[in-house]
Amino acid sequence: MPSAEVILHQTHGIFANGQWHRIPDTRAVTDPATGNLVGTVAYAGKTEAALAVDAASQAFPDWAARTAEERALVLERWADLISAHREELAKVVTLEQGKPLAEALDEVDGAAKFAKWYAEEAKRVAGEVVPGSARNRRILIWRQPVGVCGLITPWNYPASMVTRKLSPALAAGCTVVLKPALQTPLSAVFLFRLLQEAGCPDGVANLVTGRAADIGEVFMQHPAVRKVSFTGSTEVGKLLIRQSADQVKRLSLELGGNAPLIVFPDADVEAAADGAIANKFENAGQMCNGINVMYVHEQVAAPFIERLAERVQALRVGHGLHPETQMGPLIDHAAVHHAHTLVEDAVRAGARVVTGGHQLTGERYERGSFYAPTVLTGITPHMRIAQEEIFGPVAPVVVFRDEDAVLKTVNATPYGLAAYVYTRDVRRVFEVAERLEFGMVAVNGTSLSVPQAPFGGIKESGEGREGGHFGIEEYLNIKYVSVTLGP
Ligand code: NAD
Repeated sequence: MPSAEVILHQTHGIFANGQWHRIPDTRAVTDPATGNLVGTVAYAGKTEAALAVDAASQAFPDWAARTAEERALVLERWADLISAHREELAKVVTLEQGKPLAEALDEVDGAAKFAKWYAEEAKRVAGEVVPGSARNRRILIWRQPVGVCGLITPWNYPASMVTRKLSPALAAGCTVVLKPALQTPLSAVFLFRLLQEAGCPDGVANLVTGRAADIGEVFMQHPAVRKVSFTGSTEVGKLLIRQSADQVKRLSLELGGNAPLIVFPDADVEAAADGAIANKFENAGQMCNGINVMYVHEQVAAPFIERLAERVQALRVGHGLHPETQMGPLIDHAAVHHAHTLVEDAVRAGARVVTGGHQLTGERYERGSFYAPTVLTGITPHMRIAQEEIFGPVAPVVVFRDEDAVLKTVNATPYGLAAYVYTRDVRRVFEVAERLEFGMVAVNGTSLSVPQAPFGGIKESGEGREGGHFGIEEYLNIKYVSVTLGP
C-alpha cells in the first residue's frame, strides 16, 4: 500500500513495462517553503524514454483490443484508490509544490473525479453509420485509439494534471508515457503506484522523470509515438509544434494565459471581490486560468478595491502544512523574481502599491520562495504586468469606463484561455461572453475546471480540450470505412 512515507525521502526510478528501474543519475526534489529535501527521482534521458515508449508500443495492441468495460474498471479502481489515499497524496502535493493542504486536498479530489469521469466516458465512444451515395454502398465511421501518447505535465497541479491526461488517453485505448515536471514528480510517482495497484497492465502506463528536452525529443522522433499532449508554457508549446512537423504528430496544447476579470457597474461588488481573491490567490497565483488583470468599472472601483485590499492583507502566508496557512510559497526563487520584476516595472510606470509588493523575508520565510500577496492600482493596459502572464500573487487593477473599449483591450492579448465577468445585466451576460475571444468564460464566478466541461484555450493559449466528451476525442482517430456490397 503506498503512503506518503513510501514516496517521501526515497529514491524513485523510472516506471516502464510494469517495473520500477533505478538509474544512477538522480535529482533532488525540494520543498519550496523550506528548501528541504523531500525525495529523489531518476534524472533520465533518451535511453530510458525510448525504453518506456517501446514498452507502451508493445502494450498497445492488447490494451486497445480490450472492451471499454475492462479499461473503465482500471480507471474506476484508480479513482477509488486516489480517494482512499487523498490525505497522503495531498501531503506529497503540498510538500513538493507548496500549496496549502486544503487546496492540495481539493486538487486530489479533482484528480479522482477525472479518473472516474473518463471511466464512464470510455463506454460512450461510438462510431456512426451514414447513408451511402449508392444503393450497394455503406459508410461506416469508426473511432479508434491514436496509439502511444507522450504526456508532458507542469508543476502547478502535479496530481490533477496527471489524471486529466492519463484518464482520457487510457479510456480511449491508448498507451502512454508520462513526463512530469522535475520540480514535482513525486505526486506522479504516487499516482503511478496507485494505478499499478488498480490493475493497469504492464506497459500501458509508463513514467519517465528527467531531462525535459531529451525526453521531449524522443516523443517527437520515435515513430511509435503518435500524439503528444502538453500542458505548460507557450514558449515550450511553440517548440513542440515545430518539432512535431517532421512526423506530423497530433498535438494537444494547454498553454499560458492572460485572463481578465471584468467587473461591470451593475455587478455584485462584494461577490466580485471575493471571487477575484478565490481565483487570484489560489496556488499563490500560479494557475494557467488565473486572473491576470482586474478591469473594474469606475463606478464600483472604490468599494471593489477596498474589499480586495482588506481581504488580501488578511491572507495568512506560510508553510502549506500549517493549518492556518491560506497561501504558500511560489515554486522557486525565479518565480518570485519574475513577479517582483513586473511589480517594479509597474511602479516605475506610475502604479501604486496598495498592499504587498515585496518578497517575504524574516525567520518564517527565510529559506522559502515567498512573495507577499499584492494589490496594485493605477495600472494601464500597456504596462508589462498587464501584457505578460504574472503567475504569482499579484492583483493589478485597471479602472475602465466604457464596455466596448474594455472588450477591445482584453481581446488584444495574443492569449485566449479564460475570462471572468461580473454583471447582473442579462444582455451583458450574453453579449460580453459572445464577444470575448477566450476558450472559456465564467460569469459571476471564477472557478472553471470540472471533468465534464471542455477546458482549453484559443490563440496562443493552445489547442485541444481536456474534459467532457471533447477530452476523449483528443485520443481517438476517425476512420471512414466504405463497404461496397457487390456490383
Ligand atoms: P514549462 O513549459 O516550463 O514546463 C512544462 C512541462 O514541459 C514540464 O514538464 C517541463 O519539464 C517540460 N518541458 C520543458 N522544456 C521542454 C522541452 N524542450 N521539451 C519537452 N518538454 C519540456 O512550464 P511551467 O513553468 O512548468 O508551467 C507554467 C506554465 O504552464 C504557465 O505558462 C501556465 O500558464 C501553463 N499552464 C497551462 C495550463 C493550461 O491548462 N492551459 C495549465 C497549467 C499550466
